[in-house]
Amino acid sequence: MEEKILKRTAVFLTMVSVLICGTIFYFPRLKAVSELWVAAVEEYNLKITAEQMNMTGLELLEYNNEQAKGQGEVSFDSQLRLELPLGVPGNELKVIQDYVTQTIDIKIPFADTEYFYHYPMLGRSDNIDSLTYESREGYGVVEIVTSQVFEVKSSYDKDYFYIDFLTPQEVYDKVVVIDAGHGGNAPGATKQGVNEKDIDLDIVLKLKELFDAQDDGSVGVYYTRTEDVNPSFENRVGLANNSGANLFISVHNNSTQSGRMSSINGTQVMYDELNGEETLGSKGLAQICLEEVTAQTGSSNKGIVEGNDIFIIRTSDVPVALIEVGFMTNQTELNNLKSEEYQEKVAQGIYNAVMRAFAEGY
Ligand SMILES: [Zn+2]
Repeated sequence: MEEKILKRTAVFLTMVSVLICGTIFYFPRLKAVSELWVAAVEEYNLKITAEQMNMTGLELLEYNNEQAKGQGEVSFDSQLRLELPLGVPGNELKVIQDYVTQTIDIKIPFADTEYFYHYPMLGRSDNIDSLTYESREGYGVVEIVTSQVFEVKSSYDKDYFYIDFLTPQEVYDKVVVIDAGHGGNAPGATKQGVNEKDIDLDIVLKLKELFDAQDDGSVGVYYTRTEDVNPSFENRVGLANNSGANLFISVHNNSTQSGRMSSINGTQVMYDELNGEETLGSKGLAQICLEEVTAQTGSSNKGIVEGNDIFIIRTSDVPVALIEVGFMTNQTELNNLKSEEYQEKVAQGIYNAVMRAFAEGY
C-alpha cells in the first residue's frame, strides 16, 4: 500500500519536475500555456455551475452573456454566436428549419456532450421560447424553438458561426400561408376509396408549383404541410398568425351532411364573420377565392358561408378563407377532383385569387 503511494508520489514529482524544466526552457511560451490553463479552468467552472444550477439551455445562454459582459467580450451584430469546435469549418454546420413548429436545428459535427459547456453560445434570447442541446451520432444539435416564424440567415468565420433571425416581412413583400386540410391519420371525407386529405394535398402541391415558378422573391409562401402528415390545428393557424401573413388559405373538399352520394355540387368558401369586412377582411378574401376558383373550374358557385365554428377560422388573426373546392359526394365532381387536369385548374384559381388579393391591397 505505502509502496504504491510512494510510487505515485515519485511519478507525480517527476512530472512536476519535467513541467518546471519545460517551463524554464520554454519560458516565452509560459504566458500562452497559463492562459490556456486559465481558460480550461473557466470552462470547467462554467460547466459545473451550469450543472449544479440545473440550468436550461436558455438560462445557460443568459449566464454566458453575463459572464462575457463581465469579461468585456467584444460584441457582435448577429443574434446568436456559436463557437466552432476545434478543426470544424463553418460550412460543415447544417441549419434545418421547420416553419410549422417554429423549430431551428443547428447540427454541429464532432460536437460531443460537453460542447455546449466548453464553447459558450452567446447572443440575444428574445424571440426564443426554448433552447436545448443534445449530442448524438457524432453530431451536436442545438435546437431552438422561436416565438414567431423566422427566416434564418447564417454565416461564419474561422472561429464562429453566426445566426440571424429575419421576420418574413424583412425577406418578402407579401406573405401567404397555404393549408392542405387533414393528413396523416386524419383522412377527412372518404368516398369510393378516395381520401379528401390526398385531394387537398394534390391541389396544394400543384399550387406550390405555380408559386415556385413565379419565384421573383417578392411573395413568401409557407405551407402547413407538403406531405401526408397531420399538423395540429394550433400549428396550422400558428403558422399564419406567427408569420404575420397577409393571407391564410385552407384547401378542403366537401360532402353532404348524410355522407350519401347526391346531386349537390359546387364550390363554397368559408370566412370568419368576426373579421367580416368586405374590404381587406376575411369575407372579401372568401369572395375573391370563390370567384377565381369557379372561373377556372366552371364549377357552380355555392356562395360564401360563415365559418366561425371551425377552429382555424375562429382563431386566425389574419384574413382567412377556407375553400371547399367541390363535393366528394357528387359523382361528377368526385371524378373531376381525382383528375390532375381539374386539380391544376383549381390550383390556378387559388393562385389567381392570391395575386388578385395582393393587387387589391391585402
Ligand atoms: Zn376537410
